Amino acid sequence: MTRSALRHPLLDACGVEHGFGLRGVSPSPRILRPRQVHGAAVTTPEACTGQDPAEADAVVSRAAGVAIGVATADCVPILLATARGDAVAAVHAGWRGLARGVVASGVEALRRLADPHEPLVAVLGPHIGPCCYEVDRPVLDALEARFPQALPGALRPAGRPGHALLDLALLARAELAAAGIAPAALGAVRDACTCCDAGRFHSFRRDGARAGRLLHFITARSLGAGPAGSQA
Ligand SMILES: [Zn+2]
Repeated sequence: MTRSALRHPLLDACGVEHGFGLRGVSPSPRILRPRQVHGAAVTTPEACTGQDPAEADAVVSRAAGVAIGVATADCVPILLATARGDAVAAVHAGWRGLARGVVASGVEALRRLADPHEPLVAVLGPHIGPCCYEVDRPVLDALEARFPQALPGALRPAGRPGHALLDLALLARAELAAAGIAPAALGAVRDACTCCDAGRFHSFRRDGARAGRLLHFITARSLGAGPAGSQA
């Protein structure tokens, strides 16, 4: 059986090539990726072309036909596009990146690159679920500072004192909503806990240092090619 990367209808509607990676599935295009450092910096595909790619955890692009992306193994990958698909972004959001504001930084950079009036679409890919993601006090403290409103709702009790089960995606959604992504334009790949599903996903929490990485990509399209040219 051949498997292919996971697509999402919200991004299909933007007309962009994209895919969330699965274990054992190598996306066909060459993907320009940054050197991920769990920070909030945003870079461009041009800065990711050589042997020494930029340190960043988000990439924004309006280079038609050029695949940009991020790699994850439990963190939340987020792919974004303008409604007409002429500008795109890929974001790597783990707890450190979320605490440092990488999601807001990625959205802001995409807005600067695109027509500012163009609505944006965002889709969350496979990531570790609250079923499996127990974190401790230092993580909670770091997130509390950035998500004072959303954090309590993202936590469930864990077996050990000082620990909690964390829903990373809920925090990512809160930040996307605060950055102006409309509820109907915010999607997610369903039933995709990287730690629960060893058949489909790599997971650092499950496999430790030997864990592989899932590769996710998105490609801006040329507006010259289709009927989707906008009046905006
Ligand atoms: Zn799980």
